[in-house]
Amino acid sequence: MPEGPEIHRAANRIAKALVGKTLNQVEFHYKTVEGLEHYFLNKEVEYVKARSKGLLISVGDYVMYSHNQLYGRWTVNRATTKPKPTNRSLRVLLGNDKNIARLWSATDIEILEPWELVGHPYLAKLGPDVADLEVRYEDVLAQISSPKFARRQLSGLLLDQGFLAGVGNYLRSEILFSAGISPYRKTGSLTEDEREKLAKSAIEITALAYHEKGVTVPQELYKTLRDNGLSRYQARHYAFTRDGLECHTCDSLIVHTRLSSRRLDYCPKCQI
Ligand SMILES: [Zn+2]
Repeated sequence: MPEGPEIHRAANRIAKALVGKTLNQVEFHYKTVEGLEHYFLNKEVEYVKARSKGLLISVGDYVMYSHNQLYGRWTVNRATTKPKPTNRSLRVLLGNDKNIARLWSATDIEILEPWELVGHPYLAKLGPDVADLEVRYEDVLAQISSPKFARRQLSGLLLDQGFLAGVGNYLRSEILFSAGISPYRKTGSLTEDEREKLAKSAIEITALAYHEKGVTVPQELYKTLRDNGLSRYQARHYAFTRDGLECHTCDSLIVHTRLSSRRLDYCPKCQI
């Protein structure tokens, strides 16, 4: 399942294809939006934004909200290119003279008025989105320091989009490794220094994953490891899926466990 950086990259691709241009092709093939094509047709696309795993596309006086769940997928093609044959059902088509964006298989699609975004059941619950490159450090730190989350173990808390949006499973392991914090800790037990480290790591590791397409180690280290024969799978992260391999910063081995029913890998020596 894609995590924050992947959704934000998809949003960026759609934005490049559509923003500032007028839609001259609009198709909606889903019960919640069918018949509303005229809201978007011949209107200009103002913005495309990811909010955690949801996507917002503002056109004219309305905003389309979609959430991909497990199966939804956006594709972007040149207007002259036919999409590849697929078993997926076309739900939304938004096109201009040059490009066409298509949403496949998603079942969570709505057209909203801008004021409806504020109280939206999914959007309203989200914490600061660390996959948004403009997220503010102060907001992330305030969330980590909030008494509301003090009794929650970080392993589970980091997957809660109401705490920090945009973090998924590989980022959970990588953020905790980068901050040097054990997944078994609760936010209430963190020192000020640790809270600051966690906020910084959450932002930096997620931004790195965005820029380097899911790689969370520095490019130089990644290249060296690949040159030494390691697979992409073994080279791209500090801890995640590296169980049994040596930690990059100490002589300990990375340990594998399952927490909140998902895989988590960590260094028992570096993360305290
Ligand atoms: Zn280590």
